[in-house]
Amino acid sequence: MTPMARLAGRTAVVTGASRGIGRGIAERLGRDGALVAVHYGNDGDAAAATVAAVEKDGGRAFAFRAELDRPDAVDVFYAALDRGLAGAGAGREVDILVNNAGASGSGRLHQLTPEVFDRLFAVNVKAPLFLVQRALDRFRDGGRIVNVSSLVSRNAYPESVTYSMTKGALDTMTLALAKELGPRGITVNTVAPGYVATDMNARHRTTPEAVAELAALSALGRVGTPQDIADVVAFLASDDARWITGQYLAAGGGTGL
Ligand code: NAP
Repeated sequence: MTPMARLAGRTAVVTGASRGIGRGIAERLGRDGALVAVHYGNDGDAAAATVAAVEKDGGRAFAFRAELDRPDAVDVFYAALDRGLAGAGAGREVDILVNNAGASGSGRLHQLTPEVFDRLFAVNVKAPLFLVQRALDRFRDGGRIVNVSSLVSRNAYPESVTYSMTKGALDTMTLALAKELGPRGITVNTVAPGYVATDMNARHRTTPEAVAELAALSALGRVGTPQDIADVVAFLASDDARWITGQYLAAGGGTGL
């Protein structure tokens, strides 16, 4: 089987795929042959660029919008997804869900506000859980759920206490859902990136010295790229990973060794 055919006939939904890591994941799953549903929150132009990148590589994709910090997020999400699937001539079934969308920037303890706490938990924890719940009747047996966490869920990160708490909750969700959905052959795993150069943390890379310090965090001596993470997600989404579930896969180039 060619790599292109690996996910042929499957539908993959990637949240937060307009930019950064999510765009990298969408591009890779598109190259593997899946129809990719490119979710975004606000940046429709960026999502359209992701779709164009998938199509340029010979893949199929469409974009759809849902703001995940809104109370009606899950209803809006699936209504928009269904319009996109119908437009692509596909059924409502889903094979792969990558919970990648994430919000950061909570700050240290003294900077915290209840509003920021609620927004981060809404986007990073509540949305992934209820997106899975609502997808149960459309998930084909043998499906794949990949939750994008962060190394900060297992390392002290007081610089952004609420953000790291949300990722800890997401990790716990992976464990529970892996057991819950195992009888259907659906695997649920966590990928935990280390530092990856994206818009989310561009403020950390304003000087060459700062970039060098970030590169030194990894045993491999460079900062991560969205493609580094996308390839790990693609493995977990593939048939090769059928015997892996409930796991936390650190993808940080040996950060913290
Ligand atoms: P990014 O470049 O900031 O992109 C974030 C994505 O999430 C965008 O597509 C954005 O959509 C979407 N999003 C954010 N808030 C949203 C909301 N309220 N409603 C709907 N969509 C929303 O981030 P990234 O660095 O690629 O991060 C992707 C994931 O990796 C996140 O879960 C993050 O926590 C995790 N992670 C990142 C790093 C890193 O170093 N970058 C490290 C560890 C873990 P719009 O653009 O349309 O608003």
